[in-house]
Amino acid sequence: MGKLSGPPPLLGGAPKPVAAPPERHSARERGYTSKWDRASKRFLRANPLCRGCQAVGRVEPATLTDHVIPHTRGTDAFWDQRWWQASCKWHHDVVKQLLEREFDAGRIGADDLWLDSDRAVHLTRRERGEGGR
Ligand SMILES: [Zn+2]
Repeated sequence: MGKLSGPPPLLGGAPKPVAAPPERHSARERGYTSKWDRASKRFLRANPLCRGCQAVGRVEPATLTDHVIPHTRGTDAFWDQRWWQASCKWHHDVVKQLLEREFDAGRIGADDLWLDSDRAVHLTRRERGEGGR
């Protein structure tokens, strides 16, 4: 005993990664940045359920923040939370894509892009195969 000298010295806590400084130009160009990630997560904490699923009486956790009006990247509207909606992946990938196509074609207005609009509810029921109920 006494030969071994105690446990090896503890290393100081690993340095925490330092947040990168705001990237003004590239952030604006790309839109989806760590700043967006944080804002989106905060939004989903306040709005944990999918708006489109709620509209048809389903309780489904929202997994992403959707921009109600597409093509806002790089504009002030991108950061306007009044035009954000909590969505599950299915609503975003299926119903919202259909809505945006109709919006781009001028067949529906911006208000119809909400996942609980009459149009969205109709598409939700149709795409889920629940139209006949
Ligand atoms: Zn949904």
